[in-house]
Amino acid sequence: MHTTTMTCRRCGKCCEEGGPALHTQDTDLVRSGQIPIASLITLRKGELAHNPKTNKIQAITVELVKVIGTGRQWSCVYYQKEKGCSIYKDRPYACRVLKCWNTEEILALVEKDTVDRYAILADDHPMVPIIREHEKICPCDDLEDLYMKGAALGESKKKEVEKRMRHDLRFRARIIKDFDLKLSEELFYFGRPLFQLLQPLGVRLIETQNELYLKWQE
Ligand code: SF4
Ligand code: SF4
Repeated sequence: MHTTTMTCRRCGKCCEEGGPALHTQDTDLVRSGQIPIASLITLRKGELAHNPKTNKIQAITVELVKVIGTGRQWSCVYYQKEKGCSIYKDRPYACRVLKCWNTEEILALVEKDTVDRYAILADDHPMVPIIREHEKICPCDDLEDLYMKGAALGESKKKEVEKRMRHDLRFRARIIKDFDLKLSEELFYFGRPLFQLLQPLGVRLIETQNELYLKWQE
């Protein structure tokens, strides 16, 4: 980032580092469809993410809804190399606040006044009870604990996580079929599948003809 400038030159470096988390100020942008849910990804409470305040990978303490990224670098989906931000006039609050030359204000926004899926969807939205059901069968609030224990994790816990991973995938498959969901919509409604959240812990998904397994790092 450019730390010598005192104004935004719209160089796009911050956009290349990923899409912003949404805040209460952005609710209307999503509800009005200016930012469709297909452009969003949910990071569920407990998922591991880089915390810019501590500069560490930590479990997030609130659910976050972020603008999705693209490409290897996971640049914000609204960033165009030649033209810059394609929704500049309606960009999310965090993008307005971000000043790469003085990060105090943007750091104060980390996990503060953020919106979750329930704040975005209307109370009577048909997916609301389904999201709640998914949270019950596949919570991810123990990822940091799994991460800390690593190789010392007991066999019974590993089996429980494996079972949860299978429930997660079966649940998603059923709902995707019933509601004809696209992958982009699935990522908003349910976040990333548990097996993907386990990958940074060195856990791999093994698929045989009849079943799915998790292979834990030795
Ligand atoms: S805030 Fe972002 S777009 Fe603006 S100068 Fe800094 S890095 Fe570039
Ligand atoms: S919404 Fe626009 S300003 Fe914000 S990160 Fe994406 S491209 Fe950059």
